[in-house]
Amino acid sequence: MTPKEVLKNFYGYDNFRGQQEAIIKSILSDKDTIVLMPTGGGKSVCYQVPAMVYEGLTLVISPLIALMKDQVDALNANGIPSAYLNSTQSTSEQRFIHQEIQSGKIKLLYVAPERLFGGAFPLTELLQDIKLALVAIDEAHCVSQWGHDFRPDYLQIGMLRKEFPAVPFIALTATADKQTRKDIADKLGLIHPKWFISSFDRPNITYRVTPKRNSFEKLLEFLEYHQKSSGIIYCLSRKNVEDTAEKLQAAGLSVLPYHAGLNRETRAANQEKFIKDEVKIMVATIAFGMGIDKSNVRFVVHMNMPQNIEGYYQETGRAGRDGLPSEALLFYSYGDFMTLKRMIDTPDNPEYASIMATKLTKMKDFCQSSKCRRRYLMSYFGEQTDEACGNCDICFSEGNQEDMTIPSQMLLSTLARLKESFGMGYTILVLRGSQSVKVQEEHKQLSVYGIGKDKTEDFWKLLGQQLIQEGYIAEAGQQFPTLKLTTLAWTKLKKKQKILLSMQDNSMLRKTKKVAY
Ligand code: ADP
Ligand code: ZN
Repeated sequence: MTPKEVLKNFYGYDNFRGQQEAIIKSILSDKDTIVLMPTGGGKSVCYQVPAMVYEGLTLVISPLIALMKDQVDALNANGIPSAYLNSTQSTSEQRFIHQEIQSGKIKLLYVAPERLFGGAFPLTELLQDIKLALVAIDEAHCVSQWGHDFRPDYLQIGMLRKEFPAVPFIALTATADKQTRKDIADKLGLIHPKWFISSFDRPNITYRVTPKRNSFEKLLEFLEYHQKSSGIIYCLSRKNVEDTAEKLQAAGLSVLPYHAGLNRETRAANQEKFIKDEVKIMVATIAFGMGIDKSNVRFVVHMNMPQNIEGYYQETGRAGRDGLPSEALLFYSYGDFMTLKRMIDTPDNPEYASIMATKLTKMKDFCQSSKCRRRYLMSYFGEQTDEACGNCDICFSEGNQEDMTIPSQMLLSTLARLKESFGMGYTILVLRGSQSVKVQEEHKQLSVYGIGKDKTEDFWKLLGQQLIQEGYIAEAGQQFPTLKLTTLAWTKLKKKQKILLSMQDNSMLRKTKKVAY
């Protein structure tokens, strides 16, 4: 059968999509191949079709044990004889599958990397006995410490490569920054691999980042724009998931929770309802979403900042797979940054911890940046774009800038007088001349005390946020956030230059929208 016939007969599709055909051609000419394609791009077809064209067995290495059964069931249902081997199976089950492989009945075998050389029946011995046609490595970024999901067992694949020098290998991933890419080829020991890099741009997704102030009210407002639409709301902890789901249910919305603390049946039932559109919104930890193929997800909300851009991109990428306009909204706070920083600080692997810290900082930079969100994301993944996208909160706010020189000078000088050792809340108390006992006596003597009393607290908060976003103020501090003036701020103050800011809380307001809903 030709690849096209396989596609038609087993999947029912008439045409290949994007680079699929070229990728399959590369594999069928026995070349090592690396595929970078966003989630939903159609990576599976790239190795499953060659598996059916080749004589012999295709081995698929995947870290996602929980998904193997579903993947294999789906393949068998399509008439592609497949099996998996992992630690959830009994010895007799595993023995049976070994026999099936030896008799040549299986075309695709899914395994976790630790199965290759370890376990009761090391696979490599079996593979020597049969015709191994192709090895596919899913989630290939797991081989790299630079990836966001390093799995040491993946390093064993390099040994497999050496044992089977004549067999083509294909590595696939949906997320890889530049360093990770290089690492994938090196660590897997691929031989002059042919690269296929699809564009990571998802032009139908609108990206928005908004300060995590009154986040629940903002969320309700956002959901009002998305009535009857399906969406996912990600929270950092199980408790956050429970709380948020309860509050949304109380507000009359069609919501269910999902996290690893729920029992298997509940999780499966909730997921099923979401996929079938019986419930509209899933409030979940990031445990939810992998391997879910639901095309009409209209929005993805992050109540907390994700740990890295890779995770953020993968999670937001679950929106709008059908190509229709969709939204990604992220609530950002410096507090969350600090929480995550503590979480990833694992002393047992300092090198890894330091890579994770760098990634976390890039995530924070993304949230605080005043540049087009899409441009930032694209350049993170190594794609250069010349133009701003016109479809993110930053692009929307452009052209709406106002002269905020005087209030900005007031706020910045107050920070300076407070010796850059306080947070925004306290600074605003001083600015507005608060009588609160929280304000230290010496600060009541400052010349800036009360100079901002004719403006509301909300005004100052928004101004402060915009000054952070535009790079005039940097957040620092270990225990609690303190604010520092950047070089840009000092220059502007000294030279008495104008400060232009967008004073719209451009979180999710439609005022400046250009996209139809
Ligand atoms: P990925 O692994 O890259 O996230 P999948 O392999 O799961 O993506 O494919 C995503 C969806 O696209 C699946 O529903 C798949 O059946 C579908 N798909 C893949 N290739 C094609 C094609 N050539 N034509 C139509 N649909 C396709
Ligand atoms: Zn933009």
